[in-house]
Amino acid sequence: MTDQAQPSGVSPAIVLQSTITCPRCGHRSIHMMPTDACQYIHVCASCGITLKPKPGDCCIYCSYGDVACPPIQEERAGLGDACCHGSGAPGSD
Ligand SMILES: [Zn+2]
Repeated sequence: MTDQAQPSGVSPAIVLQSTITCPRCGHRSIHMMPTDACQYIHVCASCGITLKPKPGDCCIYCSYGDVACPPIQEERAGLGDACCHGSGAPGSD
C-alpha cells in the first residue's frame, strides 16, 4: 500500500456498477451509478414496482444494489465525505 496513482475523478477502487435486485420479483439488473448524484428512484423493468431507498440509506443502490453508491464506498474506504448520508459533518472546503 504505497503510493497509488489515481486519475482525476473516481478512484479505481470505487465500483461504479451495481446490480439491483428487485425485492418484489427478484429481477436483477445491472446499472452504472452516477458519481455526482444519488439515485432515489428505480423502476423495476420486470414488475414495474418503484423502488425507493430504505430509511437510513441514501439511494437505491445502498438499499437494493450489491454495491453501495460511490460516495458511500469512499466513506467506507476512509477516502472522503459521504454525499447526503452525512450527519452534519464539518465541510472540508
Ligand atoms: Zn420487480
